[in-house]
Amino acid sequence: MRTQPNIIVTGTPGVGKTTHCETLAQNTGLKHMAINDVVKSRECHDGWDKEFGCWIVDEDKLLDVIEDEVKQGGYIIDWHACEVFPKSWIDLVVVLRVDSTVLYDRLKARNYAENKLQENLDSEIMEVLLQEARDAYDEEIVVELRSDTAEEMENNIERIESWITNWKKNNAA
Ligand code: ADP
Ligand code: MN
Repeated sequence: MRTQPNIIVTGTPGVGKTTHCETLAQNTGLKHMAINDVVKSRECHDGWDKEFGCWIVDEDKLLDVIEDEVKQGGYIIDWHACEVFPKSWIDLVVVLRVDSTVLYDRLKARNYAENKLQENLDSEIMEVLLQEARDAYDEEIVVELRSDTAEEMENNIERIESWITNWKKNNAA
């Protein structure tokens, strides 16, 4: 079994996944696994989707490529989707949420195209990724956290860090 937990940080693009993961990795020593980078650098895709500006992910290959590492534990997985990862790999799923006007400004600042921006706003408002997480994992491991402000982010980081500490205590050999 794992001696360190695996955590998914998920949510609509722009909610703050990467910012949270980087800070958490620095503070805890867990490793930040940005799935976008893995998909690209280890070629787990069938090309680039021009309409939506993202890779067409080969999920089987992705799982093959990360399985040995993730099964060891100690990963913070950063991706907008979560249901592909087997339940047995995952100890906590954090779904970040953000106010839609805040999200609009963040995606605008990233120069998102109008169709992509609108699609992501709709997805956030309709809680698509929260629902995906709740459908894929046991409800007691899915946590919804707000990420509108820097203060909320600090609180989230603290909460997740104390969750990690507790997990280690409860799972000590
Ligand atoms: P994601 O990885 O989910 O797409 P990022 O972590 O890249 O999101 O964050 C998108 C932008 O929003 C960045 O400019 C980041 O600094 C900012 N941001 C993220 N979370 C917060 C927050 N809680 N408060 C203020 N700004 C934030
Ligand atoms: Mn990101």
